Amino acid sequence: MEEDIQPQAIELLEELQSVEAKGDCTSSETRPIDQGRIQRAVREILEAIGEDPEREGLRRTPQRIAQMYAEIFSGSEEQALQQLAVGFRESHSEMILVRNIAFHSICEHHLLPFSGHAHVAYIPRGKIVGLSKIARTVDILARRPQIQERLTSLIADVLERGLDPVGVAVVMEAEHMCMVMRGVKKPGSFVTTSALRGGFRTNPATRAEFFSLVASGRATP
Ligand SMILES: [Zn+2]
Repeated sequence: MEEDIQPQAIELLEELQSVEAKGDCTSSETRPIDQGRIQRAVREILEAIGEDPEREGLRRTPQRIAQMYAEIFSGSEEQALQQLAVGFRESHSEMILVRNIAFHSICEHHLLPFSGHAHVAYIPRGKIVGLSKIARTVDILARRPQIQERLTSLIADVLERGLDPVGVAVVMEAEHMCMVMRGVKKPGSFVTTSALRGGFRTNPATRAEFFSLVASGRATP
């Protein structure tokens, strides 16, 4: 009987830890990136895996990783919203779809990359932004440690706040290095996530049009 209890307790503990982790990440305040601290931590990891951080090939690795983290973890909602603020008034009220936006992000469970493509659509309510701003929004928001599901929702939410559109739809397809390199080791398996807001959620015809355009690869006129 006692043996039965232990795994349950571990499961519960893991559940609590994952809830805690989610709670941590919802505060989207951008903290300054302490490169010196990253360097010390990377050195510590290298020693912990039995490497000599002073050997030729590793000597500058902590510094390189600190600089890389400063870049790939630099994204913030504020930054994304700022660049969406520059738009123009336009009476166009049909769906605008940007397909195949390449993105790279880092999974918060393993700190390994996940990469793929995003398809983003919105139906304007008078305000339109340049197509590159949509791609830039994906790019900025991807620069955080996160999970694909939350990134997909975040892009939809930020576009909703920044454009005040009739609706927003986001589909993301990505390959996760943590699935390719370790654990289940399934290269070539893609994870698809979607987030629908406004008209895309309430109107089945709009939703169907979006998904068929994404699937068919045809751009909307
Ligand atoms: Zn992972």
